[in-house]
Amino acid sequence: MATQTTKDRPVLRERDAMLCRACGREERASEGYPCEGCETFVCLVCTIRGVTRCRDCVAKAKGA
Ligand SMILES: [Zn+2]
Ligand SMILES: [Zn+2]
Repeated sequence: MATQTTKDRPVLRERDAMLCRACGREERASEGYPCEGCETFVCLVCTIRGVTRCRDCVAKAKGA
């Protein structure tokens, strides 16, 4: 069972993408930050714009 080839395996970097929970775009997970509220992924672009929480947490903060 040790005949697995490495040839056809996808490059890990190409899978380094996560859906930003603030803007909904797919961004690089390694460049994003966790949401302050629930630690879900928030992309670097949003973080630069001052968004440190995902939409859900922002909505909760406003609604409370
Ligand atoms: Zn974003
Ligand atoms: Zn959150």
